[in-house]
Amino acid sequence: KYDRTPLIAGNWKMNMDHVQAITLLQKLAWTLSDARHDFKRVEVAVFPPFTDLRGVQTLVQGDDLEVVYGGQDLSPHDSGAYTGDISGQFLSRLGCRYVLVGHSERRTIHGESDELLQGKVQAAYRHGLVPVLCVGEGLEVRQSGGHVEHTLAQVRADLAGLDAEHAARLVIAYEPVWAIGTGEVAGPADAQEMCAAIRAELVELYDADVASGVRLLYGGSVKASNAAAILRERDVDGVLVGGASLDVAEFANIVRFEH
Ligand code: PEP
Repeated sequence: KYDRTPLIAGNWKMNMDHVQAITLLQKLAWTLSDARHDFKRVEVAVFPPFTDLRGVQTLVQGDDLEVVYGGQDLSPHDSGAYTGDISGQFLSRLGCRYVLVGHSERRTIHGESDELLQGKVQAAYRHGLVPVLCVGEGLEVRQSGGHVEHTLAQVRADLAGLDAEHAARLVIAYEPVWAIGTGEVAGPADAQEMCAAIRAELVELYDADVASGVRLLYGGSVKASNAAAILRERDVDGVLVGGASLDVAEFANIVRFEH
């Protein structure tokens, strides 16, 4: 594989209050330090709810943890009359490195459009955050065989107007909606097919240098038992884990997929 550092990311969704978050993160840090995990070789990120981030920052800084973290969403705006929204500026001031953009639950439940997501990608970079852009098709599209074109159309629309310098630092997560929280996992070959297609699209949109630097993750019912096979695929550079990221032993075993 190209020299891309694998990224193992845990999306906690709307789970873990600010007290539970600290316990979970402490346990994860202990488990990984007992296992002498090398965070430079395999990066570990968690995406807690907004209300946990201040506590997570205090813990990470105070205990010098190497786990990095991010928000699950951000506003396309920087500040102002947007009740209930969170600015990328607030996230970066809390030490976030990443922010999820366009998770399928945001697209579906909140009706987030590609146009809105384009603004969120730009807002993330304005505040020094790396967007983890989530794309992927639903079951009907998969069954009709249009999954590659559907997903590439999302990539093109969400990255519209983004220059090569920023695109080179991007993370894109392919998450087929039918495999999220359902126990259905796309096979390693499916993950590879889509990640290769996304990388080829990035060559078209930018160039080979940019495309080879972008990390592409797979997400959808990833567990310790299936992570290694998926991560072995050439164009898969990491995984975005939902449910299994709330179980410390399970998530730690995903992080240690090479063992
Ligand atoms: C997710 O929400 O990003 C996800 C992949 O969830 P799960 O692992 O639970 O399918």
